Amino acid sequence: MTLTTPTTGGPTLAQERRIVTAIPGPRSVELMARKRSAVTSAVGTTMPVFAAAAGGGVIVDVDGNSFIDLGSGIAVTGVGNSAPRVVDAVQAQVAQFTHTCFMVTPYDSYVEVAEKLNELTPGDHEKRSALFNSGAEAVENAIKVARSYTGKQAVVAFDHAYHGRTNLTMALTAKSMPYKSGFGPFAPEIYRAPMSYPFRDGLSGPEAAKRAVSVIEKQVGAANLAAIVVEPIQGEGGFIVPAPGFLPALAEWARENDVVFIADEVQTGFARTGDLFASENEGIVPDIIATAKGIAGGLPLSAITGRAEIMDATHTGGLGGTYGGNPIACVAALAAIETYLEDDLASAARTIGETIAARFTAAQKTDARIGDIRGRGAMMAIEFVDPRTNEPDAALTAAIAKAAAAEGVIVLTCGTYGNVIRFLPPLSIPDALLNEGIDVVLSALENA
Ligand SMILES: *Cc1c(COP(=O)(O)O)cnc(C)c1O
Repeated sequence: MTLTTPTTGGPTLAQERRIVTAIPGPRSVELMARKRSAVTSAVGTTMPVFAAAAGGGVIVDVDGNSFIDLGSGIAVTGVGNSAPRVVDAVQAQVAQFTHTCFMVTPYDSYVEVAEKLNELTPGDHEKRSALFNSGAEAVENAIKVARSYTGKQAVVAFDHAYHGRTNLTMALTAKSMPYKSGFGPFAPEIYRAPMSYPFRDGLSGPEAAKRAVSVIEKQVGAANLAAIVVEPIQGEGGFIVPAPGFLPALAEWARENDVVFIADEVQTGFARTGDLFASENEGIVPDIIATAKGIAGGLPLSAITGRAEIMDATHTGGLGGTYGGNPIACVAALAAIETYLEDDLASAARTIGETIAARFTAAQKTDARIGDIRGRGAMMAIEFVDPRTNEPDAALTAAIAKAAAAEGVIVLTCGTYGNVIRFLPPLSIPDALLNEGIDVVLSALENA
């Protein structure tokens, strides 16, 4: 067994699906038992297999099983696991210094990440950035900045939204179980507006925007509203792609009403949707964009990037944190960003999206349980329904994910109703492996 467990990961790992033990294998079973007695049960596990190495489009477990990775550790390893440029940059930096705290003695890699983000995010206006550790922290800081700039307090988020698990971002997040249940009270001055959800509301983008704006004006009032925060394509909520025109109308309303428009691109950012940022698809220029997940090839880093006059409105010392913009994470981000651009991973994402869409569109012709196929680029999802009623079918969805896992394919579910399978493969996944992964999911559907 040890012979099949690789000692290093990265793209040179054999790109194959390989099941050599029961799933989970004996070593994973042993480790799961240790996890149960050492780690709080509140931290769940999607797949009870322990990772030993990963790269390209596979994750190899401690028993030597090789899984096709259609999840990227939740949209993080867009450049692939242990991507060569990231590995080199991290190894060089870790030998140089590991931490000084940017607020104490700064270093150039932080500044360079900020420069890159200012250059690459939508809009050619003057921008400033700040770096943090997690997506939730980025969203929280975007709201701090918006409040301090506008002098207003209210924040609007949307139905099905996911923005994180800290107190303020839990308040922004829509779904109770598992994210909020029992964890209140939540931060005040958060309001919820209806999202555009074409498959279920049948509204055009402008109609859905009108509905949302009406709720905002009636229940909050622009005079009280600091910010609107929206995911250009909703992640955990079910990969809901708003109807065309919804986001531009909201952004325009925000601009006209002195409301900061915050795009939460924590999941959609960094080539995932086939553009470097999902906002670009409809030419949206957010006042502040929050990024994280795909930014640094797996190292913990997040950022907010926004209009200079908004970002500089906060008093000096008002933003920061001990670890924010850690030097190892910063050099990893520079290496990851170079990889997205040099390897044109945005087009890789578009090709991945076309493959997934084509395969499931073909399957939908004979299987009405496939209710909706949606997403963009390498952020695609299938919503499963009861064909007679169009009601969400969470049981079918869970059964498919479970069967696929047993066959060596890692897929994630999502959605307010738990009836969505989402595909978030590393953009480095070989085409043959992607298709094999889809084969497994489709046969799991057939047999379910
Ligand atoms: C994952 C996610 C977050 C939270 O990021 P963490 O790094 O887990 O704190 C926020 N917003 C969106 C859209 C996300 O997908």
